[in-house]
Amino acid sequence: MEKENKTEAEILAEKLLYKKPSAFEKMSEEELTAAQEYAVGYSDYLYHSKTEREAVKTSVKILENAGYAEYKLGDKVAVGGKYYLNNREKGLFAFTVGTESINDGVRVLAAHIDSPRLDLKQHPLYEDGGIAYLKTHYYGGTRKYQWPTLPLALHGVVTKRGGETVEVNIGEDEGDPVLVITDLAPHIAKEQGNKALNTAFNGEVLNILVGTVPLMEDGKPANVENAVKLNIMKLLNEKYGIVESDFMSAELCTVPAGKPVDIGLDKSLIGAYGHDDKVCAYPALTALTDNECTKHTVICALADKEETGSDGISGMQCTLLSELIDEIAKALGGNGNICRHNSLCLSADVTVGYDPNYPEVFEKRNSALMNCGVAIAKYTGSGGKYSTNDASAELVGKIRDMLDDDNVLWQTAELGKIDVGGGGTVAKYIANHNIETIDAGVPVLSMHSPFEAISKYDLYSTYKAFLAFCK
Ligand code: MN
Ligand code: MN
Repeated sequence: MEKENKTEAEILAEKLLYKKPSAFEKMSEEELTAAQEYAVGYSDYLYHSKTEREAVKTSVKILENAGYAEYKLGDKVAVGGKYYLNNREKGLFAFTVGTESINDGVRVLAAHIDSPRLDLKQHPLYEDGGIAYLKTHYYGGTRKYQWPTLPLALHGVVTKRGGETVEVNIGEDEGDPVLVITDLAPHIAKEQGNKALNTAFNGEVLNILVGTVPLMEDGKPANVENAVKLNIMKLLNEKYGIVESDFMSAELCTVPAGKPVDIGLDKSLIGAYGHDDKVCAYPALTALTDNECTKHTVICALADKEETGSDGISGMQCTLLSELIDEIAKALGGNGNICRHNSLCLSADVTVGYDPNYPEVFEKRNSALMNCGVAIAKYTGSGGKYSTNDASAELVGKIRDMLDDDNVLWQTAELGKIDVGGGGTVAKYIANHNIETIDAGVPVLSMHSPFEAISKYDLYSTYKAFLAFCK
């Protein structure tokens, strides 16, 4: 309720001081409902996009339904055209060509579609104590203690001798079995319990239990070594036509099994594996396809390998984004260097949400609060602002105007207290290509865990922010 007779001090405070609003103070009833509805589409996208390969497939479907056509480097492009470049099934660049001169720059929305997980090693399958296991090698920043005693699924591809690639998906379909990493009973875990959290579980104990039944012959266990392992290999062979040596040319990822679910009696949050960074990839993609402004050329870049440093051919350190801009500029009679110089990029990535359970690691005034909207991070990195893209005051000003003009709920964010840790995004790699870049994304609780939590209102604010950026 607005108070009627405000004092002079109250009026002055309103005029001069900043107060961070929440979704419930700023968003209309229609918007709060729209946020709930938007979350349904997102949850479905997320469930079908647990790995970068799956995210590429799911995203291509959305793009094709929206009239985007496959593009290859060197192809012609037309003003008003809608295209996507599939980067070897692991990365995706979708773009809409605007009416404005290409030398005036493009708008880039860059998110990543890989998430921390446990990859299988190249010789994963073995048997010990009558149990068959798969050896894993963790991918990205994982807290290893979070992974035992969870229902796990196996997603990925196997390229067989001769070049045929088969898709593997175990643990998601109704009636499918799940896999698990076991843990000690507390009764015999005294010594383990005394170890430091980060050393109690080493990477070599994260072995996936895949079976316990030996291959049977004439009603008896077959008289071969490792009959349980052999039986698992037989089951895999029946389902996928693979043999043990095929593991050497495979990319198999262990991820938490199951669908995203609502969290809280008020259903305000979504709990799921892989929000980081599909929770920004989906708004980036849908902002591109829903954008009605035809002025700017908009590129939505969905990258792999962010969680391991953005290296390699599918990571954002690869020159492909830059080359794509060159090709688009050339096709339109422009100049890639001039285009990049005038371009803007939102590095669409999550940040850590303030967790009242752990106030000691946060500086509350500068943390992203849940339900307070998309979080803009001027810089990330660690220590004395090392290893980051520090966006200029002018760029923050420009973004701020865009968001406020479109009535978007937004806030600023830092990753935690100074020197407690830190982290990076793809922002600096894109800025290194002479593209003005700033980080923006959804605050996450339990980030990088097998069950991360985000707010539906922050998700919707992020979508709105990206739409505003496309205009
Ligand atoms: Mn991320
Ligand atoms: Mn991450």
